[in-house]
Amino acid sequence: MSERLPKSVEIVEVGPRDGLQNEPTVVGTATKLKFINDALDAGIRRIEVASFVNPKRVPQMADAEDVLRALLPREGVQFVGLVLNRKGFERARAAGCTEIGMAVVASDTFNQRNQGATTAESITAWSGIARAAHAAGIRAQITVSAAFGCPFEGDVPVARVVEIAERVADAGPFEIAIADTIGVGVPSQVSEIVGRVRERLPSMPLRFHFHNTRNTGLANAYAAVEAGVRVLDASIGGIGGCPFAPAATGNIPTEDLVFMLNRMGVATGIDLEALIRTGRWLQDQLGRTIPGMLIKAGNFHPRAANA
Ligand code: ZN
Repeated sequence: MSERLPKSVEIVEVGPRDGLQNEPTVVGTATKLKFINDALDAGIRRIEVASFVNPKRVPQMADAEDVLRALLPREGVQFVGLVLNRKGFERARAAGCTEIGMAVVASDTFNQRNQGATTAESITAWSGIARAAHAAGIRAQITVSAAFGCPFEGDVPVARVVEIAERVADAGPFEIAIADTIGVGVPSQVSEIVGRVRERLPSMPLRFHFHNTRNTGLANAYAAVEAGVRVLDASIGGIGGCPFAPAATGNIPTEDLVFMLNRMGVATGIDLEALIRTGRWLQDQLGRTIPGMLIKAGNFHPRAANA
């Protein structure tokens, strides 16, 4: 099977946004900045730093502008801002995000609860945002959320995911992400979705976003890489969730994913020891045990173990 694996995979760190957004206690701006800068020092090159949403609904992201203002530009680094509507995009642009991501939910009920609009309305909003982003010289990508299942509607047909992917592709994203927002996906589903989306959009780069709610996150990540996906989201320590998805838990832990890929000979360009240190620091900051396994078990050193 290893001959089917790529030489490298890109990891997008989503902890400062998707991760912290679900933390009950608001984390200070200085802590967020250390989190982001430590992740970059470890080798992360794309990082979701904030979402530009209503601070009354998501108090954790109320300092989005402050975070962006304090971040120094770094060679080859993309500071990603999540937006859900045009107003959010204008804020992200003004704050200096170099990349924006938007999300449309594959089920209408969930999209309505998350964004106060139907899926079709969100796709229309995305088209306008993508146009504005292109005009402003900002990279724009789009996520199809809850693509593996919806907390309100249950199963989401793959045909629906493919249809939405095709519709959002019309606006010219540089990449489409497919998200298991509530953590119900399994590897066979990953392979099927990759294959079916590829049939319709053969040249569109795909990114996958997994939550480990039911412990299938890393298996899903492996299935995605094996199916040809070259970009994955993860959060240091496995923190995170979605405040609008009942019982959704963290993203797949970045350091656990890097460990797995490293041991399979797939490069990520990320310093695993540095990630583990950041994960442990983050655990101290949050004051609770966080899901990542490498921060508990530590890295594996084959030579030391054989000695
Ligand atoms: Zn998520």
